[in-house]
Amino acid sequence: MTNCSENYFRVKVHKNKIISGLITNFKHSKHKAYVKDTLKHQGLRNQLANQIKDKGIANKNVLAAIAKIPRHLFLDSSFENFAYKDQAFPILADQTISQPYTVAYQSQLLEIVPGDKVLEIGTGSGYQTAVLLELKAEVYTIERQNELFKKTKLFLPKLGYRPKYMSFGDGYKGLPEYAPFDKIIVTAGAPYVPKPLLAQLKIGGILVIPVGDTEQVMHLYKRTGAKSFQKHELEDCKFVPMLEKKN
Ligand code: SAH
Repeated sequence: MTNCSENYFRVKVHKNKIISGLITNFKHSKHKAYVKDTLKHQGLRNQLANQIKDKGIANKNVLAAIAKIPRHLFLDSSFENFAYKDQAFPILADQTISQPYTVAYQSQLLEIVPGDKVLEIGTGSGYQTAVLLELKAEVYTIERQNELFKKTKLFLPKLGYRPKYMSFGDGYKGLPEYAPFDKIIVTAGAPYVPKPLLAQLKIGGILVIPVGDTEQVMHLYKRTGAKSFQKHELEDCKFVPMLEKKN
């Protein structure tokens, strides 16, 4: 397995026990968006950005976004100590906040320029959304878990992050009413490439999507014409599954 892994179950068994206890608390607690951001957090974020750089991410804007976004606020305050480790972490509804390296890797592949219209499938905690917004993209994002959708829709603006549109829906369908998009990013493991996503890409646009059932290969599609695409298969990775319909 390469760097590109969402597999938080690598945490040792005794830690897992603690984590599942904390997850239970998380379900019953309010998200503490008001938890402080301190110089210590900033130091940890700088270290995280350096680690990700050492793993091969060269895009300076992406690294600056990782060094800027207070990831600990995207988790319950009890998980603060895990927030700046380069690993995925459980959030509500049995989903994960993606591993920072993976977020940086997918963001770099998208080659975002300011003003790009970007569709994100799998809003989750909103951390990837925040990175796209730091890159000055205009973000449209879809989440199929209602619980997560509602929570993240309230949370992101508290940090000053304002996607253009947040949708509770099924990412397999994309957002035809807002298409076409310059870039599309899928942050869940897709068993196949949904045709509507390819159809909603501008000519010259890029789709980044992990494809596979239990494990995936990162795929990059570049639309070269009305009916033509270049396909690239990149790193192995592991994401939570892209599920059909809403929940
Ligand atoms: N980018 C998120 C990653 C969350 S994990 C973050 O960093 O927090 C993947 C997310 O994709 C989950 O929230 C999951 O509920 C969502 N998802 C899975 N299938 C989906 C679908 N068909 N449409 C929209 N979202 C989906």
